[in-house]
Amino acid sequence: MKIAFVTSELDPYAKVGGLADVARGLTKALSQLGCDVKIFIPRYSSIDPWRDELRYCFDVNEIKIKISEKEFSVHAFKKELSFNRKSKIEIYFVDSPFHFDRGTIYTNDIDEGERFLLFSKAVIEICQRLKWAPDVFHINDWPTGLLPIILKQHYSWDLLFKNTKFLLTIHNIEYQGNFSPELVFNNHLDGKYFYLGGPLEFHGKVSFLKAGIVFSDIITTVSENYAREILTHEFGGGMEQILLTKKNVVYGILNGVDYSEWNPKTDKYIPYKYSEKSLYRKSKNKIELLKTFHLPEDKETPLIGIVSRLVSQKGFDLMISGIDEILKMNLRFVILGSGENKYEDFFRSLAYSFPDKFGLKIGFDNQLAHLIEAGADMFLMPSRYEPCGLNQIYSLKYGTVPIVRKTGGLADTVKDWDYYQQLGLHSGNGFVFENFSSQEMVDAIRRALERYKDKKIWKQIQLNGMKENFSWDISARKYYDLYRKLVVVNN
Ligand code: ADP
Repeated sequence: MKIAFVTSELDPYAKVGGLADVARGLTKALSQLGCDVKIFIPRYSSIDPWRDELRYCFDVNEIKIKISEKEFSVHAFKKELSFNRKSKIEIYFVDSPFHFDRGTIYTNDIDEGERFLLFSKAVIEICQRLKWAPDVFHINDWPTGLLPIILKQHYSWDLLFKNTKFLLTIHNIEYQGNFSPELVFNNHLDGKYFYLGGPLEFHGKVSFLKAGIVFSDIITTVSENYAREILTHEFGGGMEQILLTKKNVVYGILNGVDYSEWNPKTDKYIPYKYSEKSLYRKSKNKIELLKTFHLPEDKETPLIGIVSRLVSQKGFDLMISGIDEILKMNLRFVILGSGENKYEDFFRSLAYSFPDKFGLKIGFDNQLAHLIEAGADMFLMPSRYEPCGLNQIYSLKYGTVPIVRKTGGLADTVKDWDYYQQLGLHSGNGFVFENFSSQEMVDAIRRALERYKDKKIWKQIQLNGMKENFSWDISARKYYDLYRKLVVVNN
């Protein structure tokens, strides 16, 4: 099975959020299932061919690509990753410095749409030069949404792709890539698809995501619950009607975790490794974490971790409105994230006013994210919506009890201790609140603090989480089955 995995993020080369982790973990698991996987990603300025040991692709050479009547010279670099003797992955980095040598992966620049339009075209051209057609183009989110229509319109003459199918994974439906309609006309995308309510049109703009939905054969999203949610007005981001017309090809597959990266037994970023059997060592990481944030080195006071993009989706408005209650509780926070000023300023003012209670680092820091998972007692994710969410899954493995809102993938992975206990079961692995309400969030934190006092119960909750298995093997097999569905129908 030949899979082209086309993505705008890939850990460790370019990461903003979960897509990067998925691109890395899923492709590795697919290659271990015997798939021939090639990953395609732009070569952003953060990726240095020399340092990252990339090889120039002479078999691709120079590709001339026209975007909005201007011609650009595009090249490719390549890297091969081997996992064992049988499985390897090739990563192709699309090199167009004009488009991708910018400060960030995503930008607000006026040519944002053109950047990723060029990327999609380049991916197809690279496949042509390699004389390699995938069985499935697995595209991800809006940046790759135009790929199916470009292939259908501009390359249908090439029989190489005659059996190629498309699977689109939506990692977050709120990011849609909606741009000025000139992009359609300046780039010879067929104007017949751009009319009110048409396949490319969304509120007067051309929507990359909508195009991906319309022209893909299968649409997946990153948890079963989110797959149901995006068909509703509340969570569909306006795409629910078009998704409903394709309901029978919409699937939810929970993201997996690469436990070779996120496992307290082997984690190279944490000072004290531990497992279910040596859980007592976790508190040594807690001390390291407290030191790192210049907080009092006190093992007993519960410590809540947050690692997140600081945007409205992540629900920190509930902390803003519930802060008076939170300040009354005996707990500490360590917070790592960056994003909108509103949330950065809120956390800054807390860290400034209560330096013994709140430790803050604004920025992106993978190593510190690992230490927070290892050292915190609890992990807070009060999201408004959460397609899958990875940090609660990492938290479970690290015995760091998640406190989450019941939405999207959070609802699929975290089981409320008290709820299950009322049913006579001791299988809960965290604390869950239902509605987007600061009172409910504060109550959930309070319940967690109450349970934390009973060391025996707390350990049980931790162990329940640590025993869960969300490895990629299971989820990759589900993607594989979907690819097979497309290929079997094909032949
Ligand atoms: P989203 O994709 O919506 O940002 P996910 O929970 O799916 O949320 O994935 C977030 C990923 O990004 C996790 O691996 C998390 O650890 C990481 N991450 C988010 N913010 C930071 C940060 N400031 N520093 C380091 N890692 C971060």
